[in-house]
Amino acid sequence: MFRKIAVILVFSFGLGAEAQEPAGRLVVLRAGQLIDGTGGPPLRPAMVIVRNDRIESVGQQLPVPDGATLFDLGSATLLPGLIDLHTHLVGEVGVHWEEELLKTTPSQAAIHGVKNARDTLWAGFTTCRDMGPTWPFTDVDVRDAIEKGAVPGPRLQVAGNYVSATGGAGDAKQFSIYVEVPLVRNLADGVDEVRKAVRTNLKHGADFIKILATGAVLSKGISPGAQQYSDEELRVAVEEAGRWGRYVAAHAHGTAGINAALRAGVRTIDHGTMLDGDSIELLKSRHAYFVPTLLVGRTILEQGKSLGIPASEIERQRQLGDRAGNSFAQALKAELPIPFGTDAGVFPHGQNAREFSIRAQYGESPMKAIVSATRISAEAMGWAERVGAARSGMFADLVAVSGDPLKDITELERVKFVMKGGIVYRDELTRRAGGSNH
Ligand SMILES: [Zn+2]
Repeated sequence: MFRKIAVILVFSFGLGAEAQEPAGRLVVLRAGQLIDGTGGPPLRPAMVIVRNDRIESVGQQLPVPDGATLFDLGSATLLPGLIDLHTHLVGEVGVHWEEELLKTTPSQAAIHGVKNARDTLWAGFTTCRDMGPTWPFTDVDVRDAIEKGAVPGPRLQVAGNYVSATGGAGDAKQFSIYVEVPLVRNLADGVDEVRKAVRTNLKHGADFIKILATGAVLSKGISPGAQQYSDEELRVAVEEAGRWGRYVAAHAHGTAGINAALRAGVRTIDHGTMLDGDSIELLKSRHAYFVPTLLVGRTILEQGKSLGIPASEIERQRQLGDRAGNSFAQALKAELPIPFGTDAGVFPHGQNAREFSIRAQYGESPMKAIVSATRISAEAMGWAERVGAARSGMFADLVAVSGDPLKDITELERVKFVMKGGIVYRDELTRRAGGSNH
């Protein structure tokens, strides 16, 4: 019910503002405090002036310009829009990829992707990386539809398709050898095929390369702890992506695969379940990022069956124990800049912020957690000049919660105001004095 109202609000606001103000949209936000995403002390109280899709100025008391629309968020806390570096937006949650390939169509998956993107935006995540769909390149179409304003969703960097070895994680041809699925993930074995897979993905609209450096939990192939690509194959993927000015994100659980991917020069290690001392040193010396995904492991164990995950894959998760948590604790102790990721898509979209409280259990402070999901994630995806901080010149991607997330990080699970690119998508906070807003 509320969602319907909010959508109408967005579109009427957007159209109305443009029709009446040829000079552009001018919006002023007022809130109890602002946490700007850079780790500095909060601003109390706070005001933000937004012109068109950008933040124009930030301060405690700013003059309200003529013709501006004022959103008074009361005592709420404003933050930059949150960033999740590990999501799978396209496809229906709870449908295993084998079922998806055999019984659904790419358009079906994309339509669910639109709903998932909206749920993610509503939860305050205004930027995400999509780590790859089951139906190749459907995430490219969802990204483009969002960019064109056809549907609401986060800003996206998408993988388009996985680069995976035969029999490894991401090998979607795990059917009987007599069953041929016409369009599946890139299977690439050997340096020439890896190079071709990288080129194919970039040609068809991928923003970065997702490579499966080790086995996976949600797979029947080689085990999560095993390195699945050779050092040379990983190196070639990074080299080829580099020629296109793009980076590589490596799915990696086992230590050997993590360290091989880091030596090869990948930008992010996703999951990073079995980091060791060498991994920590490599992350530092190569300026790479470890993207932990702790919520997904727990979800697979606790709700795997109802989420349609086969028993053999739940067992793989059980065997990993709390390695993922130990890796996170190690990285925290080493004071690495740790971005934010979740693997949403394995569990329903819009629950991304539940990851924060799990990280808190390992000792991450609320301020560190917020910086993780804002500035550090923006840096990891190469978008530090666009998103992840509430300062002038950045995209006006701002969210608000009614309480103080520095006292209770679970406040971020209850986002009540979402602005992306200067457009308000969700607002349960504004005090409508005299009905002058909108
Ligand atoms: Zn994933």
